[in-house]
Amino acid sequence: MRGFESFKRSDALGGRTRTGNFAEQAEKEMNEDMLQEHAACVEKYTETAATILNWLKALDLKEVGNIFSEYLTKSGIPVEHWNVAEKFYLYEGVGDNEMAYNSASNAIRINVKYYDELLLRYDEDEVFVRFMHALFHETAHSTSYNKIEWDVEFGETNMRADLKQQTGFDANVASKRIDNGRKSDEQMRVFELFNEGITEQIAHEVVLEYVRRRPTSIEPSKFKRTTTNYLESEIFEGTNDYDAARQMITAIVLSISEQTNVPEKVVWRGFVRQYYTGEMTPGDVVELLNETFGSNFGERIAEAKDGTDLRELALSLRSLSTHYPDVAQKWLDHLHVTRGAQ
Ligand SMILES: [Zn+2]
Repeated sequence: MRGFESFKRSDALGGRTRTGNFAEQAEKEMNEDMLQEHAACVEKYTETAATILNWLKALDLKEVGNIFSEYLTKSGIPVEHWNVAEKFYLYEGVGDNEMAYNSASNAIRINVKYYDELLLRYDEDEVFVRFMHALFHETAHSTSYNKIEWDVEFGETNMRADLKQQTGFDANVASKRIDNGRKSDEQMRVFELFNEGITEQIAHEVVLEYVRRRPTSIEPSKFKRTTTNYLESEIFEGTNDYDAARQMITAIVLSISEQTNVPEKVVWRGFVRQYYTGEMTPGDVVELLNETFGSNFGERIAEAKDGTDLRELALSLRSLSTHYPDVAQKWLDHLHVTRGAQ
């Protein structure tokens, strides 16, 4: 796969930046459309919509922001670059999509239909914990390094739209063309699943920290039990693609830790740092992974599309017997740590 090359090193450390002639308009239009759909959902799903809006109120979002700000500070992001999504819209989605954050709109969309169906089958407290976890997952995306570059041109009979988007490790290039009625669409995306694994792991940590600080409105003992049940069943033994991504990252962290003699916790913090700063380009990440785990490993991670791809990679990682001592220093440099740091 080619296309990594088009991503340059960022000049700003972390935060959300958007550039290009269409950036402001796109954000405005997206938010207007979402607000409209939100209003329709509130009407159609009166009861569930009210429940979700109550959940949002019950959560101490300020405290959530505090927890995330610690990740940003530790990653060296200046305060003025912090970004966190604060707009939430209901939408009627399909399937298991619970929520979504899109950096171009800087808003979080919540699939009301999904929660409506869940509330029929499970206890409300249980669904709330699930909701909280999903919300923190999407919030993590919004706090990560986000760069959006629009380049749009409208003509009489033609239209050209190029979008380059980076969120955490995930890099995406999309171009649309309309020329005299002929349409074409092209897209290249790398590190999507890998980025989900990092996000999922952060969300997991934030849920546990939030519950420690704020047991919220649910009776504490029940809440704690619900959270533990949920995290154990859904995250530790989970089998979906995001869980596979998270398990893959755990395996990578362990392997790097063994090769560099740096504690796992510190290696993990290095990945978190890259997630927040965007210091390395996608090409740099591919190169570093190739140098560490052998040729093509970086490309295979970047291009992994589902849990099966990742599980195969995790297995090949386990059977790796070669250690690459020469890359140890490189990792330490990238992770911004010195040997023995905690
Ligand atoms: Zn995600």
